[in-house]
Amino acid sequence: MLHVENLTAAIGDKQILNGIDLEVGAGEVHAIMGPNGSGKSTFAHTLAGRDGYDVSGVVTLDGADLLEMEPEQRAAAGVFLGFQYPVEIPGVNNMYFLRTALNSVRRSRGDGEISARDFLKFANEAMELVEMKEDFLNRAVNAGFSGGEKKRNEILQMALMQPRLAVLDETDSGLDIDALRIIASGVNELRGPERSMIVITHYQRLLDYIKPDFVHVLVDGRIVQSGDHTLALHLEEHGYADFVNHALDDA
Ligand code: ADP
Ligand code: MG
Ligand code: MG
Repeated sequence: MLHVENLTAAIGDKQILNGIDLEVGAGEVHAIMGPNGSGKSTFAHTLAGRDGYDVSGVVTLDGADLLEMEPEQRAAAGVFLGFQYPVEIPGVNNMYFLRTALNSVRRSRGDGEISARDFLKFANEAMELVEMKEDFLNRAVNAGFSGGEKKRNEILQMALMQPRLAVLDETDSGLDIDALRIIASGVNELRGPERSMIVITHYQRLLDYIKPDFVHVLVDGRIVQSGDHTLALHLEEHGYADFVNHALDDA
């Protein structure tokens, strides 16, 4: 479904991704783990189409060339990115924001716009998933939201967009254990045979709740090891030192 081949990314003369190869099948959940600065967020941004990067390689989703597409076209093709640092948008109502985002994806899929009434019903169902109260719809996007509330708002967006490929960038960072459980159960509810997920995390803890089919270790902009969920347990015990040292040996 997602095919990534020799993906590189640089900002100016800083090379960040050094040739990533990854295959994600329909319905699979892949975890990407790695030390700070290894390129995890850059990888997520490159999939979503954030500008500012010089990108080369191949990225296709269901055979369509993602790298040729603008971010909006990628969203329409079913790519969703949950941000490590969700932005606050003061003055923009959360409900308006979510409905506009959903409608723009629906339009480009050839579906009609959702009515205000149907949207509210849909949003309320989705908000139950992440245990958000309805009044969050009437506030400005993420403005004054706690860290956990922002992350829940990201999962709410994902639930509404029903993406084909969800990329969650450190959705667990800064969350206490209760917020983590809520986020994870929301994510687990959204797993399905037609939806693939890339869950990026620095810590193994999230993977106690979201059990990945595959785990990949990213070091220095390269996947240096892949395995099943037991690889995450190994990392929990031994840290990234083995992998980082090997990466240095190779350099
Ligand atoms: P991670 O998410 O794994 O912590 P990032 O993808 O955020 O890593 O960053 C990877 C590397 O790229 C880091 O060394 C970081 O400093 C660098 N980097 C990220 N964004 C920029 C930027 N806008 N300009 C220059 N370097 C950047
Ligand atoms: Mg980081
Ligand atoms: Mg990051």
